[in-house]
Amino acid sequence: MRDTGASLGHLQALEVLERLPYAVALLEPSGGIGWTNGRFREVFGAPAGVPRELLEQLATLTAGAARLSLPRADRGPVEVLAHCLQSTRFRMLLLDDTPGEVDAAALQSMHARLAELEREATVDRLTGAWNRRYLEHAMPAEASRSRRYRQPLSAALFDIDHFKRINDRYGHATGDAVLREISALARSRIRAADALVRWGGEEFLVLMPHTAHGAAGIAAEKLRAAIEAHTFPAVGTVTVSLGAAELLAGEDGEAFFKRVDAALYRAKETGRNRVVSDPRGASDAWAGEAPTALMQLVWHPSYACGEPTIDEQHQELFDASNALIQASLEQRANRAAFLEALKRCMESIARHFADEERILAARGYAHLAQHCGAHRTLLERAAALEAGAAKGETGVGVLVEFLVYEVVSRHILKADRDYFPLMGASLS
Ligand code: GH3
Ligand code: MG
Ligand code: MG
Repeated sequence: MRDTGASLGHLQALEVLERLPYAVALLEPSGGIGWTNGRFREVFGAPAGVPRELLEQLATLTAGAARLSLPRADRGPVEVLAHCLQSTRFRMLLLDDTPGEVDAAALQSMHARLAELEREATVDRLTGAWNRRYLEHAMPAEASRSRRYRQPLSAALFDIDHFKRINDRYGHATGDAVLREISALARSRIRAADALVRWGGEEFLVLMPHTAHGAAGIAAEKLRAAIEAHTFPAVGTVTVSLGAAELLAGEDGEAFFKRVDAALYRAKETGRNRVVSDPRGASDAWAGEAPTALMQLVWHPSYACGEPTIDEQHQELFDASNALIQASLEQRANRAAFLEALKRCMESIARHFADEERILAARGYAHLAQHCGAHRTLLERAAALEAGAAKGETGVGVLVEFLVYEVVSRHILKADRDYFPLMGASLS
C-alpha cells in the first residue's frame, strides 16, 4: 500500500497523530514505513535513514504493548513501550520513549477516535449512506475492475419527488427523518455488493457492480416500487424518480454520472415516480464478442488472504497468466508478444514468491521452510518451461497445465491457504 497516509482518508486523523507526544509510524503491509509524525523523526530520524534492524523489530510486533530496546542510526538504542494498533487499512505503532506508563484509557479513546475519523471520512452523517468522498475512491476502482474482468458496472440515481413540499409542510427535522428512512429502506433492498451513496441533498446513487443496463433498470424499478409502497409515519407516501445507466467502454466516471443524471432528469420531466434507463453499455460489445481464450482464470474475493501485497500480487498473477494463455494461442501470428507475455508471467511469479516469503518470515510463519521449498520447485519448473518455450518445444497445453493447475490450483488456492489464519489473526 503506497498511500498509507492518504488511505487514512482524513487529514484530521494525521493531525491528531502529529500532535501526540509519542513517536508514531504507520506501517505498510510489506513492513516498510509509510508515514511518521514529527516525534518519530526526532527520536529515530527520517524514515529513509531508519536502520534495517529497527524495521525488522517493528515488523514482528503484533497488536498489544511491549517493552523494547530499539536501535537508532547515529545514537544509542532507545527504550520504549511500544503499542501496536490495527486499523482496517493500516498498522500503527505508537512508541513511548518517556519513562512511566502510557495511560491505557487515553490510548483506548485515541484508537476509538481514529476509527471514528476513518469512518466519518467516507460516511454521510445524516443517513449512514456512503458519501461523495467514498465514491471518488470507489468509482475509479470499480470502473477498472469492470474493465479488467469484463463485468458490467451500472448506477441508478434517485431523487425524492417534491421533497421541498415535505420540508415546507412538516419542517426540516421531518425532512431529515424521511431522508434517513429512505436511505435505510434503499439499503435493505439493494445487494450487499452494491453501494448506496448520498449524492447530495435528497439524491442518492446506487452503484451496482456485475450489473448490466437491463438488470440495472429492473433493480431501479424495484427500488421505486418499494419506496412507493412504504408508509412513512410522519408524511405517508413518498415517491422517487430514478435514472439508470451502465458504464460504456472508455467512459470516465464524470461522463458516466452525467448520463445517469440525464436519465434521472428525463424521469422527472416525464412525470416523476418512474425509472428512465439508458439502454446501452459496455456489456453489449462484450456479449457480441466471440470467446477467444480457451481458458481464463477468474479471480474470486474468497481467494484473498487479507494481506494487501499478497492479494494484489495473486491477482496480478491471474492477469499475467490470462495474458499468457491468450498470447500462447496467438503465438504463430505474434511470437514476440508471446515471448514477452511469458517473460512477464514468469517474472511476476518470481517476484511474488520472493515478496511472499519475506512477509511470511516477518510474521513468523511456522511452515516457512516447506513453503519456500514449494516455491523453489515451481520456479525450477517455470525456468525449464520458459527455456523450452523459447526453443519452441513447449506447447500451449503444457503452459496452461503449469499455470492453471500447478501455480494457481495447487499452490495459490491450496498451499497458500495454510498461512491465511496468520494474516487474518494479525488483521483482527
Ligand atoms: P423534484 O420532484 O423536482 O425533485 O422536487 P423537489 O422539491 O424535491 O426538488 P428541489 O430540488 O426543488 O428541492 C429539494 C429540496 O431538498 C430542497 C432542500 O431544502 C431539500 N434538502 C436538501 N438537503 C436536505 C437535507 O439534508 N435535509 C432536509 N430536510 N432537506 C434537504
Ligand atoms: Mg434534487
Ligand atoms: Mg427532489
